[in-house]
Amino acid sequence: MSIINNSKTDPNKILPITYSWAREYYKNGIANNWTPEEISMQKDVEQWKSDSVLSATERRLILWNLGFFSTAESLTANNIVLAVYNHVTNPEARQYLLRQAFEEAVHTDTFIYCCDTLGLDPDYIYNMYLTIPSISAKDEFVVEITQTVFDPHFTTDTPEDVQKFVRDLIGYYVIMEGIFFYAGFAMILALRRQNRMVGIGEQFEYIMRDESVHLAFGCDLIKTICAENPGVWTDEFKTEIVELVRRAVVLECDYARDACPEGVLGINADKFSHYVEHVADRRLERLGLPKIYKRDNPFPWMSQSTDLSKEKNFFETRVTEYQTGASLDWD
Ligand code: FE
Ligand code: MN
Repeated sequence: MSIINNSKTDPNKILPITYSWAREYYKNGIANNWTPEEISMQKDVEQWKSDSVLSATERRLILWNLGFFSTAESLTANNIVLAVYNHVTNPEARQYLLRQAFEEAVHTDTFIYCCDTLGLDPDYIYNMYLTIPSISAKDEFVVEITQTVFDPHFTTDTPEDVQKFVRDLIGYYVIMEGIFFYAGFAMILALRRQNRMVGIGEQFEYIMRDESVHLAFGCDLIKTICAENPGVWTDEFKTEIVELVRRAVVLECDYARDACPEGVLGINADKFSHYVEHVADRRLERLGLPKIYKRDNPFPWMSQSTDLSKEKNFFETRVTEYQTGASLDWD
């Protein structure tokens, strides 16, 4: 048994389970179920329409993050369905991928909901990945490192091809979901801490909880493939991955500066950049690679391992009680 390159019939036989961690992540995803409509946008709409609540800098920051995430979520979903699912043949890993794909659909839906309730121009928001250079640079970077895997004739037969596939997994799980999402998470949650756009803040908090599971699954998947395919995780490949992470950090810091050029509420672009570097070190460590930046976490409030069911106001508007069993380390 192996997680990739199984025979054509094995993908249908989920029992007995080989990778119990994949099943755990699936159960975790189910326990974390949520939909954007459960969160009220009332206050956000009032604040967005008022001339006196949000500064121009805060509006820019909100628009930049809606612009980035609105298309990044579908990009991630497409990669799962069109590339990853094809090559990860193990059934319990596939079961998780189906759950993750659904979560990406929920995230995509979140940005539809935000656009609708705030009355934003969809043409403006959904074209920001083309019109805002700091956003397109991030998307293009991820697409560039994962291009070969989308070739319909691509297989994972040789160690070189497995390496390409692992590069795709690192591109999406570690760089896109693990680094490129985090300046945005920090910005929106910083606003929320100041009681601005709290509906979007809650939605981002849920998304971040989901993404932390995606990232954890992705890292386990990467490690399993590398363990089962000796000759893939070479020193040369490790050097290449570290270089990709460095380039990603530069792009994410550029994005943070562009989204938040002035600084808001005592937080400035330097702090967001330091946070991105801190996060990147955590990702490197997770892959078993040495830290580069050695930054202290400038936002300790981001790393609280939070059990959402303990959050007082989270569920006050809903009738059903959701079980939120997962308590993961969020950054
Ligand atoms: Fe997502
Ligand atoms: Mn995701």
